[in-house]
Amino acid sequence: MTKDEWVKTCATALEAQGITNFHPLEIADVGRVAYAVGQQSDRPRWKSVLKPPPLSLLPNALVLCQLLLELREADPVGSVLVNSWYRDSLYNYSIGGAGMSMHMTCGAADVVKRGWTTDEVATWFEEHSDAKDFGVGRYKTFTHIDIRGKLGRPAPARWGSSE
Ligand SMILES: [Zn+2]
Repeated sequence: MTKDEWVKTCATALEAQGITNFHPLEIADVGRVAYAVGQQSDRPRWKSVLKPPPLSLLPNALVLCQLLLELREADPVGSVLVNSWYRDSLYNYSIGGAGMSMHMTCGAADVVKRGWTTDEVATWFEEHSDAKDFGVGRYKTFTHIDIRGKLGRPAPARWGSSE
């Protein structure tokens, strides 16, 4: 699938659910495939190019979209900025991501909400009515959220500290 095809298909799906605050490229522009292009002091050198997620993962992205929209609307309302969403498995490996990273499923994102601290965002997810299905990671500059329990993975999971 090309980038344009992804944008079109994903946009149609988002529209069908009335989701207007997220663009398909927020979900997939960080979805990159990496390939080794040589060696540099015994480590592979990686080059990455855009690769849209397989369409089979779109439903996971939509579930996460709805959750991020709820986060956006939570008082006080503020934009949700996405640092990282989908990652191709090889790209994930090249950046040292976890082997079973939820980012490979389209069901995880690293986010920041304007006007909120990363701790406030993490606590909001942890107090959500579906929190038992979530993975929540606290980092200094962003919060990781994933919907692992809804995808049949062991849940909940909590890690990190923003200290
Ligand atoms: Zn993450």
